[in-house]
Formats: sequence, C-alpha cells, structure tokens
Amino acid sequence: MSEFNIIRDYFTKATQHTILSVGDDAALISVTTGNELAISADMLVAGTHFFNDADAYKLGWKSLAVNISDMAAMGASPKWATLSIALPHADKHWLSEFSRGFFACATKFKVDLIGGDTTRGPLTISVQIMGEVPHGKAIKRSGAKVGDDIWVSNTLGDAALGLAHLQNKLHDSLQLDDGYIEYCLHALHIPRPRVSLGLQLRYIATSAIDISDGLLSDLGHILTASKVGASIYLNQLPVSAFISQHLDEKQMQQFVLAAGDDYELCFTAPTSANGVITSISDHLNLKLTTIGKITVQQELIVLDCNHQPVTTSKTGFDHFA
Ligand code: ADP
Ligand code: MG
Repeated sequence: MSEFNIIRDYFTKATQHTILSVGDDAALISVTTGNELAISADMLVAGTHFFNDADAYKLGWKSLAVNISDMAAMGASPKWATLSIALPHADKHWLSEFSRGFFACATKFKVDLIGGDTTRGPLTISVQIMGEVPHGKAIKRSGAKVGDDIWVSNTLGDAALGLAHLQNKLHDSLQLDDGYIEYCLHALHIPRPRVSLGLQLRYIATSAIDISDGLLSDLGHILTASKVGASIYLNQLPVSAFISQHLDEKQMQQFVLAAGDDYELCFTAPTSANGVITSISDHLNLKLTTIGKITVQQELIVLDCNHQPVTTSKTGFDHFA
C-alpha cells in the first residue's frame, strides 16, 4: 500500500466547514468574522503514552479527543484537525480501526480532518487542532482571582485506576468489580472532552484547564499563570463511590490528586456565578463540584476532613522529571 493510498483510504473524509481539505499542498479554512483561531497540538508516542499493542480504535479516538479537550479548556469550538502519523508498517487492519476511532471522535465533535503527514517510523501520532472562539473570550489559565471557587467536572481518578489495573499495580486490597473496571478502562481509553461545558463557561469562568497530568499539577498551572494560590478539600473531590469507599488518604493522593488522563475540566469562577454554574450542570447533565478556593498565598494546600493540611508528595506527571 502506498503512502497516497493510505491517505486516500483511511484519512480522507467529507468535511463540514472547510474550503479545501486533504489532497492539495495545503488546506484552506475561513475563520468566522469576529472569532479568533485557537490552536493546540498533542503527540502520542508508543511506549510513552500507550502500550505498543494498544487497541487501534481507542488510539484513534484518544489521539483526537485529547486535542479537542484543549479546545474545551479554552472555551473554543473545535473545528479543524491535522494528523501527522509515523507508522512502522502499513497494516490494513490497524489503519482501518485507527481511522474508525479517529473519525468517530471527529464526527461526534464536528471536527474536519483537513491534512497531515504520513511517514514510516516508530508509531507516533501527532494531532494539531484548531477551533474558534469569539474575539477576546477565550478562557485562559491566567484569570483566576482571589476568592474564586475552584470547580471540577464529573469525577476524578477513574482513568488512573484503569491504568493501574492494566499495569497490575493495584494493591491486593483494592478489588475492583468487573463493571467498575470496564468503566475505568473506558475513562482511560475513550475520554470524552468537555466541549459543551467549555462553551458554556466562556462568559463565566475566570480560568480553566483540562486535567491531563493530574489535578495538582494542572491546577498548579492555573495558579502560576494567575499568580495566586489555592486551598482544596480532599473530602470534596468528586470521586466514584468505589474510590470514596475504598481508597485511603495515600491512595487518594496517588489516583485522584497526582494521576492524569481524566480530561475533565478544572475551572475557577466567582461565587456569584454559583447559580449559573449549577444550572449549566443541570442542563448538561454533568456533575460540577466545587473543590476549594483561590487564595492570596501562592501555594497549593490540600486540606483533610479536619481542615488540616495534607502533605502531598507527587504532584503530577512530567516527562522530564
Ligand atoms: P506534501 O508532499 O505536499 O507534504 P503529502 O503527500 O505529504 O503532501 O500529503 C498529501 C495530502 O494528504 C496533503 O493534503 C496532506 O495534508 C494530506 N495528508 C497526508 N497525511 C495525512 C494524514 N495522516 N491525515 C490527513 N491528511 C493527510
Ligand atoms: Mg507531507
């Protein structure tokens, strides 16, 4: 199979909001008047971000989903993506499954695949995403204000438990039942970017980030950019019933505070926005929970149920740490 056949058979699909797509030297898009272009890229490397024998459909979904998640965190509407992929060999079954997963995600979130690059090499998937956001309305990391509430969508820690399960790293005392394992693995492999939430938060949140490296690490980026601190309450963190019933404080830190891959949104908003946020939560049928407050002191403090500071060791995933 030639490079051109691969592109034609697996990476060319009708588009919705593109002038010129795959097939020319460059794609052409037109940005809606009054909007800015939000651009982000994320790379997935075999052996670093996924196992070499990972399911191709899930990889396809996730490689786009993690990029769309960055659009959600900016309050941007995802529109266009490019896909640069290095493949060790042209395996038809693998390509067809990967393409199916990628386009399932693209269709769900109305993203056009408009170009990319295809080469031979160690399996590496690099996606660039572009989206639109009304001029000046992107939700940046730098806007958190002292006194703001800190919010998190859905639950945290399930993807990390799924990963630990796959790696056989779960302590014997943590017996997950089959249904919950499946839920955790789904959270790990088929993350659902919170696009609708991001769009609704445009005029409400003072800052936002998607949780890809762990709550402490990602919230830390908001704090650094906003030059503020935060107190968060361990017992307010939104977790599944299993986690709240079975994980001790140390395990909570490991799976809920320090582990990534949830792709939920963490955002800040003034307390006056509580009512609106609650109605957004109802409207989207998505749990939104306040987990703490933005503070003046530029540090991140985790408090236990007695309001005593917990010593946190690991702060999140860093490729070069
Ligand atoms: P060039 O030689 O000009 O870089 P290529 O032969 O690499 O062009 O690509 C041909 C066309 O296919 C271009 O429009 C490019 O954007 C697109 N393309 C290449 N690889 C992919 C891919 N993996 N997914 C989507 N489009 C791709
Ligand atoms: Mg090329």
